[in-house]
Amino acid sequence: MKTPARRARGQILGVLRGDGWLSGARRVDSPNQDERPPGVHVDLVVIHAISLPPDQFGGPYVEQLFTNRLDAAAHPYFATIAHLRVSAHFLIRRDGTLLQFVSTRARAWHAGASNWQGRERCNDFSIGIELEGCDTLPFETAQYRRLAAVLRRIGRRHPGVALAGHSDIAPGRKTDPGPHFDWPRLKRLLHD
Ligand SMILES: [Zn+2]
Repeated sequence: MKTPARRARGQILGVLRGDGWLSGARRVDSPNQDERPPGVHVDLVVIHAISLPPDQFGGPYVEQLFTNRLDAAAHPYFATIAHLRVSAHFLIRRDGTLLQFVSTRARAWHAGASNWQGRERCNDFSIGIELEGCDTLPFETAQYRRLAAVLRRIGRRHPGVALAGHSDIAPGRKTDPGPHFDWPRLKRLLHD
């Protein structure tokens, strides 16, 4: 189900601050986080897609899942996931609104069992960005623009950071951000 894109009105992003919070993002603290291992520095951003219920947009459910407030009885699918303890650093809604759940200095719980160029446990060294989306519908222009803006700010604090999809680091287990995610479009925006 597709909802019309609206502009993320009034949300003007500043910098990714030294404390790991991005100025201008709507902050919603998630308890699903812990410290990164000592000495590890961030060198990967993982792009995800999520929609709750699956293929439906606009509800409060992703935010509820990431803060352990999802009502298992609200939808049959929720009963299968409400017990999960998961999060991401960022969520970009369909209208481009940016939410931040975890400081980028801390470890969010988004990647699960994963491997990036021979290194396991990608949560240790990555930043996770969720786009509200699914495997069956295109993403919105506002989401690409906001994602590029967030990535530029991450890149200023973590120069040379690499970019991967969840499906790249957990192949066979995860499909997101899915076949509709337009990597060349994102790369064009990043080079503008
Ligand atoms: Zn994912």
